[in-house]
Amino acid sequence: MENIKIGISSCLLGNNVRYDGGHQHDRYITDTLGRFFTWVPVCPEAECGLGIPREAMRLIGEPESPRLFTIHSGIDHTDRMLQWVMKKCKELENKGLCGFIFKNKSPSSGIGGVKIYSPSGMPDRKGVGIFGGAFMKHFPLIPVIDDGRLHDPILRENFIERVFVYKRWYDLTQEKVSVKDFVDFHTRHKLLIMAHSPKHLVILGRMVADMKGHEAGKYIAEYVAILTDALRLLATAKKNANVLFHMAGYFKKCISEDERRELAEVIEDYRRGLIPLIVPIVMMRHYVRKSDEPYLKKQYYLNPHPLELMLRNHV
Ligand code: SF4
Repeated sequence: MENIKIGISSCLLGNNVRYDGGHQHDRYITDTLGRFFTWVPVCPEAECGLGIPREAMRLIGEPESPRLFTIHSGIDHTDRMLQWVMKKCKELENKGLCGFIFKNKSPSSGIGGVKIYSPSGMPDRKGVGIFGGAFMKHFPLIPVIDDGRLHDPILRENFIERVFVYKRWYDLTQEKVSVKDFVDFHTRHKLLIMAHSPKHLVILGRMVADMKGHEAGKYIAEYVAILTDALRLLATAKKNANVLFHMAGYFKKCISEDERRELAEVIEDYRRGLIPLIVPIVMMRHYVRKSDEPYLKKQYYLNPHPLELMLRNHV
């Protein structure tokens, strides 16, 4: 899969755009993820014309509509920032972004847990940065994360898996979608969706069954909204183990009793947190190859993202 474009807070790439003229270079982002993604850097404060270096800022007011003030001189830059944000979101519509990595805690770029001060100067609430919040409203389907959460193995795996699903969805819907292609997309993602939410899988399955004989186009918006809700739910060890046992059911005829017992033990060890997900997955891949089971062979669940990222070695 080529050219996966990811928006990113520019300072995380090592660009000297911070208020003090420095950066927040994150080597995992540039050296590891950079091998698979094309970055679209954004620095709201520099791009809206506040200059580098500039006075540091903070949010003051209500979490739903905070204002952006310089810390010492008390200048209100909210209107300037909001005007730029509107233009920037429009511009980004044409970039084909499949995800966005934001700098955490920033009053402009943060997407959660950003300090919001009361007029008396107390940091008594938390919210989102002005650009980060606007981006999530404007692009509710695009996966987002901040650099803090990116270093949590479970949240990182969830984000990157969703980026790859979104990219496949984006590519599918660039042209007129046939029912056959839609059904194929859904079929190949079934086990992956099941690992997040069996309930959402049932709803999507009904929708796809209903599609036959109709225009696929009219289902697109509803399908992707439900799919996004499903994938936001974390794939826990318990849910993954259920999927793995479900897959193991396909091998009844082609593996020995000993192999079946060993596979069940490995899945159970994973469920109990004794070994990482990659161990039962490698065994599953082996048995899928051996059984040549056509439905399992095409499941993205077995290969949701590049092996080189080693995301399932840590969950
Ligand atoms: S956190 Fe956002 S506004 Fe601040 S330097 Fe980084 S990209 Fe620019």
